[in-house]
Amino acid sequence: MTKFAQVVVDVPTLQTNRPYDYAIPAALTDTILPGMRVVVPFGKGGRRVQGFVTALTTQQHYDGDLKAIDTLVDLRPALNTELLQLSKWMADTTYSFWISCMQTMLPNVMRAKYEKAFRIQGTIPEQIRTEIFHNQAELLYSEDLSDQTLRTLSKLQQAGQLETVYHVKNRARVKTQTMVTTVLKNRAAFAAASAALRKNAAKQFELLAYLERHPETVPLKQAEDETKLSRAIFTAGAKKGWLELSQQEVYRDPTRDTQIEQTQPLQLTADQKTAVDAVVAASKNGSDRTFLLEGVTGSGKTEVYLQIMAAALAHGKTALMLVPEIALTPQMVNRVKGRFGDLVAVLHSGLSEGEKYDEWRRIERHEAKVVVGARSAVFAPLENLGVLIMDEEHESSYKQDESPRYHARDVAIWRGQYNHCPVLLGSATPSLESRARAQKGVYQLLRLPERINGQPLPQVTLIDMKAALRKNKNGNFSPQLLTALQGRLIKHEQSVLMLNRRGFSSFVMCRDCGFVLKCPNCDISLTLHMDTHSMRCHYCGHEEPIPQICPNCHSHKIRYYGTGTEKVEKELQELLPEARILRMDVDTTRKKGAHERILQQFGSKEADILLGTQMIAKGLDFPDVTLVGVINADTALGLPDFRASERTFQLLTQVSGRAGRANKEGKVIIQTFNPEHYAIQFAQRQDYEGFYRHEMQIRHRGNYSPYYYSDLVQVSHEDEGQAAKMMFEIANRIKPILSDQAIILGPTPRSIARINKKYYYQIVIKYKHEPRLHAKLEEILETTQTETRHGFQIVIDHEPQQFT
Ligand code: ADP
Ligand code: ZN
Ligand code: ZN
Repeated sequence: MTKFAQVVVDVPTLQTNRPYDYAIPAALTDTILPGMRVVVPFGKGGRRVQGFVTALTTQQHYDGDLKAIDTLVDLRPALNTELLQLSKWMADTTYSFWISCMQTMLPNVMRAKYEKAFRIQGTIPEQIRTEIFHNQAELLYSEDLSDQTLRTLSKLQQAGQLETVYHVKNRARVKTQTMVTTVLKNRAAFAAASAALRKNAAKQFELLAYLERHPETVPLKQAEDETKLSRAIFTAGAKKGWLELSQQEVYRDPTRDTQIEQTQPLQLTADQKTAVDAVVAASKNGSDRTFLLEGVTGSGKTEVYLQIMAAALAHGKTALMLVPEIALTPQMVNRVKGRFGDLVAVLHSGLSEGEKYDEWRRIERHEAKVVVGARSAVFAPLENLGVLIMDEEHESSYKQDESPRYHARDVAIWRGQYNHCPVLLGSATPSLESRARAQKGVYQLLRLPERINGQPLPQVTLIDMKAALRKNKNGNFSPQLLTALQGRLIKHEQSVLMLNRRGFSSFVMCRDCGFVLKCPNCDISLTLHMDTHSMRCHYCGHEEPIPQICPNCHSHKIRYYGTGTEKVEKELQELLPEARILRMDVDTTRKKGAHERILQQFGSKEADILLGTQMIAKGLDFPDVTLVGVINADTALGLPDFRASERTFQLLTQVSGRAGRANKEGKVIIQTFNPEHYAIQFAQRQDYEGFYRHEMQIRHRGNYSPYYYSDLVQVSHEDEGQAAKMMFEIANRIKPILSDQAIILGPTPRSIARINKKYYYQIVIKYKHEPRLHAKLEEILETTQTETRHGFQIVIDHEPQQFT
């Protein structure tokens, strides 16, 4: 008989980062299961917190009086056995709290929220009881309580007459709709009902007539629309016993507004078939191999994914497909839905919390068998997985840059092992890490070296902007790019223009004294946002009005500097007045569904030119695009990050791939200040393999990934000296356990040393094999925990994606 439950509580600190024993009340012994959420008393004062049951036992580990579980939150486990195990593994490998990992796996609405309340414990003055507590035993805390009230409450609390209690709130709401079911069964019943009515009860007669025509159950909303009768008439009908009103659960469907055409499997090319066969065979054999599909842009990777997933479904399995950020690639979602229809659930940040929760429940109830989603969809509760696919596997957005710092690729591979199924990583420009693993045979390499229909890759021309700029001082457009754009307008073909905003921002500078407006909390310049007419800090969110005069010298010549998409759009419109331009950047895509709308407009040829930031580089497949222009190729090359070249190469290759995808030939024009740089040169030839070999040599010489692993340790504090001192102390604790093969970089301040009023210092440990390092880092996290009370924050990031 299980009597005890181990519970990990929702108190994310290291001291509480372990399961606690609780007694199971007799009423719950039959229903409680691991993975369920519970509410338990925790700590002093019996504070109520939510927790996850991680195991059930017959033995008590902790001797002493056990507290008992309060209530069950779930009727079935929120986390199944697989996800529960995965959460433990994730906590261990990413240096994060177990509870945070478990919560990361669930839709936001299922995360616990707490309401704070004051509960009367003793006798309190009558006036307070009536005026503040309104004769209730508890008062909910809210920000509306006046300072004076709070002072009164605080005094009572100190006197022991009040206690603070927490209530766990469940925010997950199931959406329902009201349904109308006709109760009257036959003509006679209807006739009797009519006869009992007064002659002038016109609306009631109408209702009866409607009910007689509709013996089936219909949504009340629909019945109201069809009859134009008010809700009150229906309620009255229910009272008379003519009809029954009931609640039915409905799902919020995120794609209900898009028409998706059903598609059939295509006849595969020989290369596609080889790839499909290899993965399908592994899936059938229960092999957990990882495959790397390296396919040039337009080589038909998506069709490969679709047919592999179809094979998994045919064998009674499920399939998971990850894409970098679906809001950016609605085309991909539509292609999967077009093939698998209602079997598909979609999970991404563009959905409302309610929609996400509903999609999650469809998966959990086995109604959806294919999941397409961004990073966190890797935790979709699909059971019996037949394959996991990760498109654009090189994308850095697959790594979460806040705790828990997991990489979706590692999680996918873990799940492949658990489910005995293959993992397929796909990209035109694989990450160096994955390509190197394929070289060593850790992954199996599959290649699609040619475009579908033998279409050539687009021809790429480099324009040296140093020369162009000498002729035309302020312009963003070289004569060659402009001529090419004009040519497409005449031929009624479309163009895509990319303005690379990575490592780049438009800021306000005084032309007289050089003053730059900076964030008061961080060490970086504020970015101009024309849509909200404000200056904003991209790190901490600080916002202030656009200055009209220079705060430093009072000159009026303070204006913006650098190139925003909006400014480029204006310039382009002046150069090509007849062109219809669509702009896609953070400003025009803030609203829900805005991405889809812009892409749809472009797809239906309502515009000639799509001008956007790097968000247009991915996944677009428009047959009439014959020109791709890159306005500034090299803004990201100068970033102090060893992946700067790789990222630039990837971006340029991806965006070039948007041209000439159907039967018209494509052309690409890349404007750059560094035409000789190897990343740009290889991108011009779209030569991934060449880039890979060259970059591997550079990584080898610099002892970078994939030759070395790296762990980043970062300390922040409001006082710069304190942050630096602590970082040196930590470095000194690590050094003695490392072999002489390992390299410690730093301590150094971050390149943006101050963010949100805090100073950041960091070290990077580079190593090949350091068996003692993991335990040491955990120990450092643990022993520095107490320091968080002194305002320190310590972060450990295994294989960080950003070094800036
Ligand atoms: P990738 O993802 O590799 O860039 P896509 O999957 O978008 O390439 O394929 C490019 C185009 O080729 C798409 O329009 C797709 O429908 C088409 N395509 C893919 N496979 C085939 C095939 N076997 N036969 C005909 N057309 C195909
Ligand atoms: Zn000035
Ligand atoms: Zn800031």
